[in-house]
Amino acid sequence: MKQLPESINITEFGIEINWDKQNKHIYPFKYLRLQCSCAGCVEEMTGKKLLNVQTIQDDIIAVDFIEVGKYAIQILWSDGHQTGIYPFDYLIKLSNSDDAVIKN
Ligand SMILES: [Zn+2]
Repeated sequence: MKQLPESINITEFGIEINWDKQNKHIYPFKYLRLQCSCAGCVEEMTGKKLLNVQTIQDDIIAVDFIEVGKYAIQILWSDGHQTGIYPFDYLIKLSNSDDAVIKN
């Protein structure tokens, strides 16, 4: 799989990333929100999760995203959170390790 997606779209199910023709992955919104690794969600020194899972609504969606350089996306969530940067290699790691990611 390439490290740079061919396209990224917000769908009704989650953020869809076309890594290449064989790998179209959908990252469900709530799942991806919970994987946020920004300083507000994960303690930098210890890696301890600060985000309280129960504060995240089931119907949370991504409102928008921007590409950060050629290595990541930054997502604006419907709960107003927008400091999370998701590097592409992190998203690939989630795809490889987590059944929550929908693989088409
Ligand atoms: Zn965060």
